[in-house]
Amino acid sequence: MTDSAAPPSPAPSPAPTPAPGNDTVFGRILRGEIPCDQVYADDLCLAFRDVQPQAPVHVLVIPRDPIARLDEAGAEHGALLGHLLLVAALVAREEGLSGFRTVINSGAEAGQTVFHLHVHVIGGRPLAWPPG
Ligand code: AMP
Repeated sequence: MTDSAAPPSPAPSPAPTPAPGNDTVFGRILRGEIPCDQVYADDLCLAFRDVQPQAPVHVLVIPRDPIARLDEAGAEHGALLGHLLLVAALVAREEGLSGFRTVINSGAEAGQTVFHLHVHVIGGRPLAWPPG
């Protein structure tokens, strides 16, 4: 039997989308089930310090709407996404940062580990570019 007679092997299936955002650790923070070191809150979002900070200032800004990842956001989320960036800049100002980096990891390949969309606000030390 030749290789060409062998049944085609199934294409690797894409990684399943992890549980909806409200089932993640950030959903639990939003519901008040676990504590966070909050720095900002409004009707649309919450900002709190990262438990494993990568810089002297490392804050996460998360929407209350549990969008799992940036590429699952739709046109209807445009205003909310803009709001998250404005809050990121506000937090950076309030933390006294003269420069800072915002990061949104989208998907496991990009380093996303919590599948509830979040904006990292990182600063307080020199930041190299490109990132790893
Ligand atoms: P990402 O890898 O982009 O999904 O980022 C997830 C971030 O969430 C990581 O930097 C974690 O350190 C952070 N994190 C995970 N659990 C908590 C928590 N309970 N409170 C604050 N930050 C958290």
